Amino acid sequence: MARKIVTIAPPTPNGDLHLGHISGPYMAADVYARVRRLRGDDVVLLCYADDYQSYLARKARELNVERFALGRENGTKIAETLRMIDIELDWFHQAGHNDYFRRAVTQFYTAARDSGNVVSKASRIPYFPAFDMYGYEAFGRGDCNHCGASSDASQCEDCAHAPDVTKMENIRCTLGPSEVEWRTVEREYLRLDAFRGFLRSLYETKALRPHLRAYLEEVLALPDLDWAVTRPHEYGIELDEPGQPNVHTWFSGIAGYFATFCEWADRQGKPELIDAWLKDRDTGLVHFLGFDCSFSHAIAYPVLLSLVDGFQRDVQIYTNRFLKLEGEDFSTSRGHAIWVRDILKTHPADAVRTYLALNSPEEAVCNFSMAEFSAWYETAFNGKLNRLRDTLFNANQKQAFIAIAACDRAAFNTLLRDWRHAGSEGAFSMRRLARVCASVLDLAADAAVHRAADARMLLAAYAVLSSPIHPAWSSALMQRIGLEQSVAAEWLDAALAAASSEPLVLEAA
Ligand SMILES: [Zn+2]
Repeated sequence: MARKIVTIAPPTPNGDLHLGHISGPYMAADVYARVRRLRGDDVVLLCYADDYQSYLARKARELNVERFALGRENGTKIAETLRMIDIELDWFHQAGHNDYFRRAVTQFYTAARDSGNVVSKASRIPYFPAFDMYGYEAFGRGDCNHCGASSDASQCEDCAHAPDVTKMENIRCTLGPSEVEWRTVEREYLRLDAFRGFLRSLYETKALRPHLRAYLEEVLALPDLDWAVTRPHEYGIELDEPGQPNVHTWFSGIAGYFATFCEWADRQGKPELIDAWLKDRDTGLVHFLGFDCSFSHAIAYPVLLSLVDGFQRDVQIYTNRFLKLEGEDFSTSRGHAIWVRDILKTHPADAVRTYLALNSPEEAVCNFSMAEFSAWYETAFNGKLNRLRDTLFNANQKQAFIAIAACDRAAFNTLLRDWRHAGSEGAFSMRRLARVCASVLDLAADAAVHRAADARMLLAAYAVLSSPIHPAWSSALMQRIGLEQSVAAEWLDAALAAASSEPLVLEAA
């Protein structure tokens, strides 16, 4: 049994979550956690509200409210939305003015500084006199010097690079018209340049999604990797440090995950888990994030982990591309979004989860069309899946065990091996898992034509295999047919063992 801390990149609590958010790291991390638990791993799934993000400060300024109060209000809403769509976090941490958070960021910052890996450099930053504001992130935009897309000066949503603000064109203030004045400030930088070899060897043999591997190769070939960690004259995190270095929120992400774990362990009344898990190198750390957060998670955080005594460990990273809505980017400011709470008024969480899993933008940008989703819901979910369940199982047809008939076994075992591969470390793919489950459902539907008993076995197997994707549907069916969770887990172990012992048959060309 492996121990894994699974993290979801923290949302900026400046509003609720829409389908674009959910289709990325949230759903994937939840499905991953459920699959690993089904396979017997000990998993803690964590997320936190990024209260120190400057986009929250900008939103609070627009609404003329206190930023941490706004963060808390939206953080509560986000946690509730996640529960509504069955994303079951073990803990959701609110970072603002939180002692766990402050202590953890201080620990990572002092470890980096005391090891000689934080250096001061003069740096030119755009300043907007009309608003007395510096353009580090939420308050300034321009053209990314790496790809040309419109970007803030912190990280580009298109290419995921950290732009060099002095090389960005068309810098402007996001608060309104203002002159741009260039000011020189003294900033602290994390010396990532010194860790190229460490990072290269870290990723050399690791299974990564192709777009992340290509990105890492690009980044590690850049002439200057050093990464600013302070933002003088802007919103920063209060540290237990004299002089209050103005550390910004991207530096603090890895500390945020550790803070969330510590708060969770204490709230469970199990503070001993903090040392037992965090200081054990065998505790896996698995990050789920949008591709645009790759620099912090894949470059900066492994380096920071290597600098804190006892925290050195292997990290697995799953990035996703983005979901579009009707062919365009989701945009909350233009109202081009489908809110999770809204779609759940007309469709069950299981259906939304299944559709998002089937169309997850893991490797490439995907599109969500409401018309296509509605048609799929009527024909595939409500039509095929629910109809098959109601045809095969009624009060007289209990099915407390699973035994796949010999005539279906070869095809089923191939799908089982695919399922195991799609749920394994390194190769994890929610999209592939959902597609394998759909093929198991096809087997059940084919069998249902003349062999109802075999079809019932296959549908029971489908319920177990697809439980990470649509947990409520699976749990309801398993209850209805008297299939206990422990029996299902035992069957799964035995079935996977049997499937892998069968020789692979190579198809003739
Ligand atoms: Zn870019």
